[in-house]
Amino acid sequence: MMQTDVLIVGGGPAGAAIAWRLRQSGVHCIVLDQAEFPRFKPCAGWITPEVLKDLQINPDEYPYGLTLFSTFNVSLGAFRFKLKTHQYSIRRIEFDAWLLNRSAADFHVHRVKEIRQEGGQYIIDGTFVGKYLVGAGGTHCPVYHTLFKPADSDARKTLIVAQEDEFPYDVSDNRCHLWFFQNHLPGYSWYVPKANGIVNVGVGGSSEQLKRNGDSLKRHWNLLVKKLEETGLIRGHAYKPSGHSYYLRQPSWETRRENAFLVGDALGLATLDMGEGIGPAIRSGLLAAEAILQDTDYSLDSIPRYSFPSLLRIRR
Ligand SMILES: Cc1cc2nc3c(=O)[nH]c(=O)nc-3n(C[C@H](O)[C@H](O)[C@H](O)COP(=O)(O)OP(=O)(O)OC[C@H]3O[C@@H](n4cnc5c(N)ncnc54)[C@H](O)[C@@H]3O)c2cc1C
Repeated sequence: MMQTDVLIVGGGPAGAAIAWRLRQSGVHCIVLDQAEFPRFKPCAGWITPEVLKDLQINPDEYPYGLTLFSTFNVSLGAFRFKLKTHQYSIRRIEFDAWLLNRSAADFHVHRVKEIRQEGGQYIIDGTFVGKYLVGAGGTHCPVYHTLFKPADSDARKTLIVAQEDEFPYDVSDNRCHLWFFQNHLPGYSWYVPKANGIVNVGVGGSSEQLKRNGDSLKRHWNLLVKKLEETGLIRGHAYKPSGHSYYLRQPSWETRRENAFLVGDALGLATLDMGEGIGPAIRSGLLAAEAILQDTDYSLDSIPRYSFPSLLRIRR
């Protein structure tokens, strides 16, 4: 048996953030993730300045590629405009591994299967034992499924589906492009250039609404590829897209049960307008850490539900 104060399932931004904060206060924690890090995580990798602030990261000191966007090129239906902003992009394969390493948590590659409670402790797969348990396992978090999922849950209504690809490309346009609600897409598509000649393109939207419209994400992916070709943003590329999904939070969802907490995508914290989930994952991890350290309530009121207001803030 391996005993710890806090067992954290998932080493993504949510898990790494709580581990980092707890370790700063000398609390021992074990992070379990089924993947070895660095691990590939499909994501546009757009982050707000608040993410860097929350994690006390000086942009000049981040050791990997960090791209600053001062303008977003936005298409909203038939309207096109430039939005002055102050946002960044990172590569998840670099960012997540760096955060986890920086947390100084005791990390184990382990796929969590069974969770039980015994004598005031949480026990994972008969091996890892902790007083506190944190579900930071993303969309399919085993902590959510074992301890939190209501019997009558119908989360499918809040399901967002996405398809994306990230690859090296000799980009001629270093600006971020966003296309909202094009061709009846209940969501948006993106072109996000990153540092060191990498670009990420993708499309995402409400699964329920796509179904209701008799539409498919594949059709919108094909339309995006066509648009990238026609606009000259990306030409002649052989795409290898992969599909992903996540849930959006519901007010009724439980965030804490006894000494077990949910953070990040395990709780569907991505914003309702743009599915920005890295910031909320990190903020919830930090808030859960405070609740454990101070023995206080775990309140997520300070986590914004929408991204758009943050896009309009142009000061650092
Ligand atoms: C296509 C796409 C594009 C996106 N673009 C953006 C963006 O540009 N900006 C943004 O802010 N957000 C974006 N998001 C959302 C963002 O990726 C997530 O909100 C964010 O990763 C949530 O972090 P997390 O730590 O909660 O979960 P994750 O990053 O998913 O980490 C969960 C970890 O748990 C591990 N795990 C899962 N199950 C188990 C198990 N049984 N045992 C052990 N480990 C397990 C996984 O291996 C994983 O490493 C995007 C999402 C998608 C799908």
